[in-house]
Amino acid sequence: MHDVIVVGAGPAGVSAALYAKARGLEVLVLEKSQVGGLISGVSKVSHYASVGEHESGQEFASKLSEQLDYSQIPVQIEEVNSISKTEAGFKVISSKAEYEAKTVILAIGSTLKELDQDKFKDLPTEHWPLGKEELYKGKTVVINGGSDGASKEALYLAQFAKCVHMVQDQDRLLCISEFKKQIEASDKIIAHTSATLESYKTEGDMCTEVVLSNGESIRDSEGIVVFVQIGQHGNADLLESFSFETQNGFVQSEISTDIDGLYLAGDIRVKPVRQIATAVADGCLAGIEAAKKAQA
Ligand SMILES: Cc1cc2nc3c(=O)[nH]c(=O)nc-3n(C[C@H](O)[C@H](O)[C@H](O)COP(=O)(O)OP(=O)(O)OC[C@H]3O[C@@H](n4cnc5c(N)ncnc54)[C@H](O)[C@@H]3O)c2cc1C
Repeated sequence: MHDVIVVGAGPAGVSAALYAKARGLEVLVLEKSQVGGLISGVSKVSHYASVGEHESGQEFASKLSEQLDYSQIPVQIEEVNSISKTEAGFKVISSKAEYEAKTVILAIGSTLKELDQDKFKDLPTEHWPLGKEELYKGKTVVINGGSDGASKEALYLAQFAKCVHMVQDQDRLLCISEFKKQIEASDKIIAHTSATLESYKTEGDMCTEVVLSNGESIRDSEGIVVFVQIGQHGNADLLESFSFETQNGFVQSEISTDIDGLYLAGDIRVKPVRQIATAVADGCLAGIEAAKKAQA
């Protein structure tokens, strides 16, 4: 029987594990992909106190991983498929094993949305340029999205792409002024507002034209790379058995849920701001509350 199982090793899960372990709990972290979570793919981590000027998501993720390591918190790479309440606590079933735990902290975050698969089934798309810069050097790029995340990746791509077309369905880019000013100053970024992706043409496996809903067309016979940054949906599927209220896959709940011993931390919760700062704050509180419960 584990004291606490943390599901998800993004900023919220790592923070929760650190705070629980520091209170003398035996902690196991289960992560389906890699330590770091969503931020691992980001070209540059912004606005979190203490990050370096050009710190990439991968660098940030490595620091999280290192911290779990030197804190002697075990992490197992396996996907959790179900969680159920038992008399003694919880049963957690993963792709590799079955576990018992007194408390569970769910820090399972969100997943980036994809384009409508009926309309864009055969269009090759990407989410992140980080680590693949050579592939996009000198290319025409289309980014679907105009939020902070899309804007930041557009600015990163503009450093080496031929040109970057941002396509936003609102009548203006929805990013913070810091990014907006840089986009306006860039001679490589073209913002297409009040527009969505309508259709595309390919030659072989290469996209050569993207047509927008306002009639504009972006063409390049040498190929166009399409990035999708149109928001996220929460990973609440895992919580099906608990009948929480959800919105777009995000769970409407406080950190301490109505289920004794079950905690939610980070982006998975319905909240006004989804950033590393709010995720680690949730993780801190969840870790402390789980420790109190497991030691009661
Ligand atoms: C494009 C973009 C740029 C961003 N830039 C910034 C920024 O510069 N600064 C900032 O503060 N924030 C930024 N954010 C937001 C930030 O990434 C999130 O707020 C933060 O990652 C949330 O952390 P989390 O731990 O709650 O969730 P996540 O980071 O989503 O981590 C959840 C983890 O749970 C794992 N998981 C999910 N389901 C399971 C399962 N069934 N079994 C096991 N593991 C599972 C996932 O693999 C993942 O590792 C950005 C977001 C985006 C989309």
